Amino acid sequence: MELQKADIETVLAEFKDPETGRGVMQLEQVRSIAVDGDTVSINLALTSHSAPIWEETRDQLESLLRTRIPDLSQVQIEISEHIRPPVKLGQVGLTAKSVIVVGSGKGGVGKSTVATSLALGLQRAGCKVGLMDADVYGPSIPHLLGASGRPEVSEKQIGTDEEGKPVVARRITPIDVGGLKVISIGFLVPADKAVIWRGPMLHGSITSFLRDTDWGPLDYLVIDMPPGTGDVALTLSQTLPPTGAVIVCTPQDVALLDAVKAIRMFQEVKIPVLGIVENMSYFLCPDNGKRYEIFGNGGAKKKADEFGIPFLGEIPINIQLRVNGDEGNTGANFDVSEVASPLQSMCTQLVREIASKHQDEPPLPSLSVL
Ligand code: ADP
Repeated sequence: MELQKADIETVLAEFKDPETGRGVMQLEQVRSIAVDGDTVSINLALTSHSAPIWEETRDQLESLLRTRIPDLSQVQIEISEHIRPPVKLGQVGLTAKSVIVVGSGKGGVGKSTVATSLALGLQRAGCKVGLMDADVYGPSIPHLLGASGRPEVSEKQIGTDEEGKPVVARRITPIDVGGLKVISIGFLVPADKAVIWRGPMLHGSITSFLRDTDWGPLDYLVIDMPPGTGDVALTLSQTLPPTGAVIVCTPQDVALLDAVKAIRMFQEVKIPVLGIVENMSYFLCPDNGKRYEIFGNGGAKKKADEFGIPFLGEIPINIQLRVNGDEGNTGANFDVSEVASPLQSMCTQLVREIASKHQDEPPLPSLSVL
């Protein structure tokens, strides 16, 4: 049977772009279709937002084509990049496609390590990423990344108000850590000075970080939240809102109770929970290779199932991971054999969850109010 280009187009018309959940034909992301006998070559363009799942998207398209057109012999699908800048988000006009908040019920569970690893993992996969440290009570992102310096803050008059007084716009240049754009209260306040901010001041600084930082066009902004409290979550929910939350917990029963509190807190402020990560799940003994479940194991997965929340994976407790964090070299965790693949799969799983959410319910293109 001679293949017809129109048949291929019919199948492609059903196929959705993972970033937007809309058809790739409709979005003009199919660059070319060439049919030669029973062989077809397709060039599909995908955005950097979907970079961690390019390969599997290619495989899904191939399998859809083979199911619909059983006579197909050879399929070659080449992926190229489709540039689609983000539209401005929320009242603050943030130029990011997805905003992921990382929270936990209590401190010390590895929330900042997971937030930093998510940002680095997404960036390594080819996404444009920003990392915002909103943990004003214990900003540890600068330390985990070995980043120092002071973000440059400039003020520019952009006009005058009704009384003729100058209207000034503040711009903050984030610290660039190997292409990752980072902002933290820790860059502005000495590390040993606990910042006890509440109410309007906290709201003001978070809003300013979102609105005044020159993030550039981002695929993902990852926000490290303070543990427990709902103040920052409420501010974010009102000003953006975020795409969703990732909750980090450890396997002990008491820690899981805190995780449940975090789930409820996010639900209360209407931030969807995208998934749970179980950190310090198990220990692989370097001496005998045996796996020890120091705090128990599998509790977070069970809780996730109970709440109908996706489980994003488990990360082992690992000495080198702690050393890398202390040395400001969290990126090196992607070269540590025991943790590299759990970290990578956590990032991929998150992108899959966002894509599947968008497939079910394509987000409406939002318009800036600025
Ligand atoms: P939180 O943000 O929840 O307070 P951090 O990410 O700052 O927690 O981590 C607290 C400490 O635990 C840090 O020293 C970090 O390096 C260490 N840590 C986090 N996750 C792990 C892990 N999986 N294995 C070993 N140490 C870890």
